[in-house]
This record gives sequence, C-alpha cells and structure tokens, in this order.
Amino acid sequence: MLNETIAIHVNKTESSRLSSVDFDNLPFGKVFSDHMLEMDYKDGKWQTPVIKTFGALNLHPATSAIHYGQSIFEGMKANRTENGEIVLFRPDMNAKRFAESCERMCMPVLPEEIFVELVRKLVEVDKDWVPMKEGYSLYIRPFMFATDDFIGIKPSDTYKFLIFTCPVGMYYAEPVNVKIEEYYTRASHGGVGRAKTAGNYAASLFPARKGQQEGFHQLVWTDGVEHKYIEESGTMNIVFVINGKLITPSEDSDTILRGITKRSVVEIAQKWGVEVEERKVTVEEVITAIKDGSLQEAFGAGTAATIAPIAKIGYRGEVLELPAVETRELSNRIKNYMTDLKLGRETDELKWCLKV
Ligand SMILES: *Cc1c(COP(=O)(O)O)cnc(C)c1O
Repeated sequence: MLNETIAIHVNKTESSRLSSVDFDNLPFGKVFSDHMLEMDYKDGKWQTPVIKTFGALNLHPATSAIHYGQSIFEGMKANRTENGEIVLFRPDMNAKRFAESCERMCMPVLPEEIFVELVRKLVEVDKDWVPMKEGYSLYIRPFMFATDDFIGIKPSDTYKFLIFTCPVGMYYAEPVNVKIEEYYTRASHGGVGRAKTAGNYAASLFPARKGQQEGFHQLVWTDGVEHKYIEESGTMNIVFVINGKLITPSEDSDTILRGITKRSVVEIAQKWGVEVEERKVTVEEVITAIKDGSLQEAFGAGTAATIAPIAKIGYRGEVLELPAVETRELSNRIKNYMTDLKLGRETDELKWCLKV
C-alpha cells in the first residue's frame, strides 16, 4: 500500500527523553516527543521525508515565511484506547483542510494520503509518548512554511513540511468567560480566515489581550462588516443550544474556519435526532435568548479542548451568566460520546478513528 510508495527514512534517537517526563503533570504544548518528521519541497517536488531527533531548525535570516507569512499548520490528536491501541481522530479531514490551506496560500499541495501516512508513521515511532491517562492525548502539529532565502515578494519555490508531537493534559480546566468583540475582526470576506495560516493568529493577539485585561479568556468574533453576526470563539468554533436546537454559524462564510470538532458535534447531534441549524447567528438573538432563559448551552469546539463550555458572555459592558455547566445535557452527552469513541468504548460506526 502507501507504505510501499512513500519511502520514509527513520533515524531513531540515541537518547530518549521519555523517562524524564512527568506524565501526571503535562502542561499544554511545552513537552515535545523524541522525534519530528521533516520533508523538503524543492525543484518542483517533495523530497524523501525523514524522521529524526526533535530539535532546532537552522534557518537563513531571509527565510520568506518569517517576513511574509506563507506558513500554515494543522492541529490533531492521537489517543490510546482502553485496549492499548492508538487511534487518530478523523485525520483525513485534517489532510483535506491542510491541502485547502496550501491552495489558498499559494503553497504546493501535499497529497492527502501522504499527509495521513506521514502523521501515522511519526506517531507510530513515538507511540510510547501517547499518554495512558484518561483526558490526556498526544497533540500533533503538522506545519509547512516557505523557505526561499529571498526578500522579494512572491510565492516561494521551496518549502519545509514538518510534524512534531506533544503529550498533553486538559486544555481548559475551567469553563470560559468570553466577550463579544465589536471593533476588531478575525477575518473578512475574501481574506484568509478559512485557512489555518499563521497571520490569522498573530492578528488576534492584540484584541485577545485587551479582552483578557477586561477579565475574559477569549473573544467571540463577529463579522467584519456590521459586527452583527457571531462567527467563532477565540481559536474555536462556537455552538449554542437554544430551545433544544443546536445552532451554529454556517461555514458558507469564508471568514469561518471549518473545524473538525464542530463538524463532528453537528453530525453526532443529527445522528441522535437533535434539530440542527447551521446558519447566520445574530448577536442579538443570542443575547435575547440568554436574557429570556431559552439559551441552555454555549460552548467552543476545537481539537485542543474538544468542548469548552462558556460560563459567561460579556456584551457592551454587561456580563451575562449562562446556565450551570452541570445542567447542560447535550454538550455533556456529546463530550462523553466523543471521549468514549476515542477510547474505544463506543463502536466507531462512522469510522472516525484510524488505527496507527
Ligand atoms: C483550528 C481552529 C478551529 C477548530 O478546528 P478543529 O478542527 O476542530 O480543531 C476553529 N477555529 C479556528 C480559528 C481554528 O484555528
């Protein structure tokens, strides 16, 4: 199969750091596994991928990604099931989104099957780094950036694709407080909001910090034209339950990142017969629903946290309290179902888990 078509060079490390890691206290994204995968693109083609000891890169100061931001990434997770198998959650969707980000950023498209195979192989090499503890997982970061050492502006001719992994614990321990942002924007029509590209995150730091200074963990982004429609929450998609219906901003807008967690939440809810509306969601209807008690649940959906319950929403100087997290039947049920799937306690009817 693919294994035969892609030759991957594997140079295993001489000295594993595994025994020095405290797997009971894992901060998010600060502990790195022994190996990384690196694959260059030059002369119009991908070179042989290499798995080697995790370590620093040596870059030319004119490396074009640093100056002009041709840089994209993915975020995904591997879990250890109860019977010790290691599974990736919907990696084909990350591969597809990565290819779309490549396209939008004028980067060579990495074929989807190769993306999945490279991720699978790296996780297999570092399988002992996949945590055993429930709620913990191996976070996987595939990324690609332009490497031409040239300060003229044009799409680079050369690129690096890399993957590294981090054993991680819980992302947010506590429910989050968010503020509806009505001045700054994350993305605009015709822009790059749908691509998982570096500059989107750089642009969000300043408004996010202002929000934090006002006591909020994250911002709820609104549309860049009227600030009337809700788009996302921080670096997660946003989902509401109002009058028993699951309501989430539709992805037709190219300002919204197409999240795999959100897609999965929607598909699970539909499978259970919950009414789902993917459409434009106004700030006004959400505020009204909080005030009249019809809003039952609100949460962020993303790979890092899976489901991050929203406790409070700040809007025009007012802070509105949402129903207690324990009362949120649907999101708690979806969260448990997704956990059970990844741990192999639920049968994987939809074939979302790929064995490593
Ligand atoms: C990655 C990301 C998400 C969530 O996507 P998942 O595939 O669920 O992890 C949502 N919004 C933004 C802006 C993101 O970068």
